[in-house]
Amino acid sequence: MIGARAIDHIGIAVRSIANQREFYEQVLGARYDGVEEVPSQKVRVAFFLVGPPGAEVRLELLEPTSPDSPVAGFLEKRGEGIHHLAYPVDGIDAILKKLKDSGLRLIDEQARVGAHHSRIAFLHPRASGGVLTEICEPEGEAK
Ligand code: ZN
Repeated sequence: MIGARAIDHIGIAVRSIANQREFYEQVLGARYDGVEEVPSQKVRVAFFLVGPPGAEVRLELLEPTSPDSPVAGFLEKRGEGIHHLAYPVDGIDAILKKLKDSGLRLIDEQARVGAHHSRIAFLHPRASGGVLTEICEPEGEAK
């Protein structure tokens, strides 16, 4: 129904991107791909790329910018660590409607603006075995 064809990125909750950057760049050897704020989620996100150009795995480090950010709540409860898996989709609005109609629990019934002007939505972790699942449609791919 979602038609996942890849993993778009892996989201990792951190208290401080600056403090973790050395691990990802110097220890892991990942390539830093910039940082941006995502106001809809009250987070700052930094991307790191692992693997050959064109076939990289993207790691998304999420740092809360406000105590009422959902990521701040996650850090409070669970501490730093893997936060979500994201799958790229085509036609996010139609997919969300279908999922909602099927009775699946969603956190976002409407897509929100994510990093790189993508449109994103989260499914409820209780609907997916405890793994917070994001679906995202990259900018310019709306159908
Ligand atoms: Zn994400």
